[in-house]
Amino acid sequence: MNRRTFVTTTGAAIAGSLVTTSTQAALAPITLEQAPLAYPPEALEPHIDALTMNIHFGKHHVAYITKLTDALKAGSIPAGNVIDLITDLSKAPAEQQMAIRNNGGGHVNHSWFWKWMAPAGSGPAGPEGKLGEAIQSTFTSIEEFKKLFGEAGTKRFGSGWAWLIVKPDGKLAVTSTPNQDNPLMKGIVADADLGTPILGLDVWEHAYYLKYQNKRPDYIAAWWNVVNWAEVAKGYEAAKA
Ligand code: MN
Repeated sequence: MNRRTFVTTTGAAIAGSLVTTSTQAALAPITLEQAPLAYPPEALEPHIDALTMNIHFGKHHVAYITKLTDALKAGSIPAGNVIDLITDLSKAPAEQQMAIRNNGGGHVNHSWFWKWMAPAGSGPAGPEGKLGEAIQSTFTSIEEFKKLFGEAGTKRFGSGWAWLIVKPDGKLAVTSTPNQDNPLMKGIVADADLGTPILGLDVWEHAYYLKYQNKRPDYIAAWWNVVNWAEVAKGYEAAKA
């Protein structure tokens, strides 16, 4: 087999083996394209400042996409749905797995994060309907849920994310991951913490340092004002369907 044939068949084998699983069936596909923000960068002020949004969206997120693109090229891996790639990294060539984990995770997590925020007052102020009921019955109250989720973000040492997930059994859970890992990553995240993310909070310093410096709890407290609860409810309904 010459090199060209090898590269082609390897790519095809990888594409074919990245089968969508029930955990992530509800998630909209994510390509290498960066979707535009649904609001202007200053629209989350004063809770999230425009400069942070501009750098976060325009530089950090873009860098993850650039590095992911390079890793896919190096591994002759077809781009396809990036969610499929990060769900089972063992299907990617060993030399590219870490780059895809970090930058594929970075791209997917940020693509969701922008949608999980909206200008304060533009939608429901908290979880409503079936999502609201599920949060209350799982965590005893909305306030208790926020406390638990906030603690997951505060206690995450270094960089990472706090998550609200729908587990394969349909139950809600609060989890946390380091770096750009996320609850879809089988074999990387503990099995008990796997699920469909319906809300996530970026607690990397780049997400808050310009405005909040070392005060991560203040950032988290302010962030609740810009959570897009309509989008979270949509994710919950889809994950439960
Ligand atoms: Mn970030």
